[in-house]
Amino acid sequence: MPATPAWPPKSAPRLFVEDELGSGRTVAVEGNQANYLARVMRVGEGDTVILCDDLTGEWATRVVQVDKRRVELEVGQHLRPREPVPDFWLCPALLKKDRFDLVLEKATELGVARIAPVVTRRCVADKLNTERADTIVTEAAEQCARTALPEIAPVAKLDALLRDWPQDRHLFFADEDGGEPAADAFCYGEGPAALLVGPEGGFDDAERAAIRAHPASVAISLGPRILRGETAAIAGTAVWMAEAGDWLDEE
Ligand code: SAM
Repeated sequence: MPATPAWPPKSAPRLFVEDELGSGRTVAVEGNQANYLARVMRVGEGDTVILCDDLTGEWATRVVQVDKRRVELEVGQHLRPREPVPDFWLCPALLKKDRFDLVLEKATELGVARIAPVVTRRCVADKLNTERADTIVTEAAEQCARTALPEIAPVAKLDALLRDWPQDRHLFFADEDGGEPAADAFCYGEGPAALLVGPEGGFDDAERAAIRAHPASVAISLGPRILRGETAAIAGTAVWMAEAGDWLDEE
């Protein structure tokens, strides 16, 4: 007896759209998304496309009309609600473009709720192309079947970040000069949390002193080796997810 093919098909393309989705609604995608569906994935009428709206969750849709500039989809079955996201922010200092792209992509895969880029005195970059950053996190979320997108906060200078820091949120500060072992600190730090990570050249002494003096900050160590900024951001996030995030949740 031939096995019943999985539905929706695993090969079905996945996209995030701005429109709020709901059964019976018609959604049109244009531009790069239409080109991706029509020319890369070669969808045809009747094919299934998975859409997410970062609000109601994930829906199966059926292609009703295709041309290379516009694809019309009819929304059908609700597949999954928007995933619950652990209340964790990643505050990475801006790095060289390709390295910061990696941080954006991996932070999205790992499940961060908010990415808050920081400019410090030793940063080699002081601006972030937000359109490009949005594309990177959206594509990363589509790739790993997330149903929620991390928020990307406007770039902030370190002193402004510290000044406006929410009182109820732990500010874990990745300090290569030493601190509490990350796993321990994360384990005991219940509630909303964030991880601040420095640039290639690290924080200067005045910045380090200002961060350490902040009432919400806890200096943490990510081990005896000096990690690159992007590695520290990704490794630190993974340890938080394992110790205090949703990696503890039973499937
Ligand atoms: N200051 C060093 C330098 O002068 O080369 C290295 C900075 S390191 C490349 C970039 C950032 O990663 C640091 O500011 C820190 O936030 C984080 N980091 C790297 N290794 C770490 C460790 N072992 N423990 C905690 N944080 C670390």
